[in-house]
Amino acid sequence: MRPNVVFLSLASDFGCQVQITNFPELLEMLGTFDLSYWQLATSAHMPSEYDIAVIEGACTTQEHVELLEKVRARAQVVIIVGACACTGGIPSLALNGDLEEGLHLVYGEAAEKVAWGHIPPRPIDAVIDVDFKVLGCPVNPDEFSSILQRALLGLVDNVHRETMCSSCKINENSCFYAQGKVCLGLVTAAGCESFCINRGRACTGCRGIAADANMKAAREFAAKYALEQEFLNGLEIYNSHAKGLVHDDSFC
Ligand code: SF4
Ligand code: SF4
Repeated sequence: MRPNVVFLSLASDFGCQVQITNFPELLEMLGTFDLSYWQLATSAHMPSEYDIAVIEGACTTQEHVELLEKVRARAQVVIIVGACACTGGIPSLALNGDLEEGLHLVYGEAAEKVAWGHIPPRPIDAVIDVDFKVLGCPVNPDEFSSILQRALLGLVDNVHRETMCSSCKINENSCFYAQGKVCLGLVTAAGCESFCINRGRACTGCRGIAADANMKAAREFAAKYALEQEFLNGLEIYNSHAKGLVHDDSFC
């Protein structure tokens, strides 16, 4: 029997799902599984039985927590897609200020109603165990496809532990620091073949902090170019959830 796949979304801008629909090979892959629910594409209700759950977005409400626990109990495989889901991403920027103050600033007196049940934003693996992560903002459709195929074949995730500098060097890019510009590739997880840097844009850290990142050495390197503060500020774009770790010298 073909595996039954559902796609659902928490706090996100649906950018990763749109990106996945830009991927023609997905149509060919559709013959290998049953796509029984896709929140972006259907108003139907989610089925009660499924094998693989693909989830986009950060967990920002108590309702999300309950949904994630339910999904984890039912799905054999959970794949999370995009920076919002994997690191807390853009929704986690809210952690940089006072959350309650921010909500009242935006929604005024309606804050209690609009943001009912809200919790501080967090990545999905802070709530449930996940099997596969597709990093990036937005995700790369090729990477999504290869991870989905691994899931369908019953393989395990192929985690990149090394930082972006490794692929950047293989691609023979010159380093932004030599031009006096900050680049988050020093600590960001590899796996996109340094896509942005190859096109002349510094890494903004959307793939999250690599397991092998040496934060202390990265800060010292940035400080050598008088860019340590810019480096730390840059990390807050996609890695606010890891802020404590970012500023902790023992995270090496
Ligand atoms: S990771 Fe980026 S593109 Fe994907 S949902 Fe979040 S903000 Fe949108
Ligand atoms: S800091 Fe950025 S530009 Fe410099 S080597 Fe690393 S990834 Fe490449």
